[in-house]
Amino acid sequence: MRPSVSRQNTPRSEADSTVGEALTAGRAALAGVSETPGLEAQRLLAETTGQSRAWLLAHPEAPLPSEALARYRNLLERRGAGEPLPYLLGWCEFFGRRFEVGPAVLIPRPETESLVEAALGYLRHRPEMRWAVDVGTGSGCVAVTLALEAPWLRVLATDVSRAALRLARRNARRHGVEGRVCMVQADLLAPLGGRFDLICANLPYVPSATLTALPVAAWEPRLALDGGEDGLALVRRLLAQLPHRLAAGGQALLEIGADQGPGAVEASQALLPGWQAQILPDLAGRDRVLIVERGPTP
Ligand code: GLN
Repeated sequence: MRPSVSRQNTPRSEADSTVGEALTAGRAALAGVSETPGLEAQRLLAETTGQSRAWLLAHPEAPLPSEALARYRNLLERRGAGEPLPYLLGWCEFFGRRFEVGPAVLIPRPETESLVEAALGYLRHRPEMRWAVDVGTGSGCVAVTLALEAPWLRVLATDVSRAALRLARRNARRHGVEGRVCMVQADLLAPLGGRFDLICANLPYVPSATLTALPVAAWEPRLALDGGEDGLALVRRLLAQLPHRLAAGGQALLEIGADQGPGAVEASQALLPGWQAQILPDLAGRDRVLIVERGPTP
């Protein structure tokens, strides 16, 4: 018997196609929008059929039921029009785990793993650090990852968008950390009381003018990307709040754009005189994280 991705063995009809044919057609359809059209076609077909990519590659001759084929074609069309793959799949991988995503939130980027790595490096030998906040949490990927990797930590996750907070809450639940990650609607840290040992933020940092020309802006929320005239408007606002929100001995880590290192350090020196500011590169060697701490007390 030939393997089939359908539950019942539907006889092959005119409307059907094989897995191999669908993948070939998909790769051709996505060649104009993707640098990895073959891989994306496999991922879309895996999603529509419920089979793994490995299975699909091992069974090019398997017939596809027309209903799965129709769904696959619809996704190819949307992807062909530029809609990002994670929105079509409804999820995205971050730090080796699956996170739900949707048009209300920024799609987690691999660069942001550098921010998480740096935060974890800081926390690793400091079990006394109990309170973290993830400012502008979006999908919640940073807050949830911190809670999972540092099980002693309590994390507050803020966002101005209610839709983002609802999605972030689902991600916290999916990963079983809803008891330690608390979602709060807030514009940065202003409405919150108290001090935090760790402050993480991947704020919008794309300069407004650059954003207009950026393809992602058509699909991802402007609210999550637009950083004002030079991209650092929100970074500056958050830096200005740190003296009242960062605990003694604490650290703040803010993601920035690859060309914003000098500007971010300058902003920090202007707003936080006497504090230490340093820039950490991402895995590609580009400026990515601004780290600030209070300077040694004189
Ligand atoms: N890294 C994102 C991009 O370049 C921007 C994310 C952000 O503004 N925080 O599209």
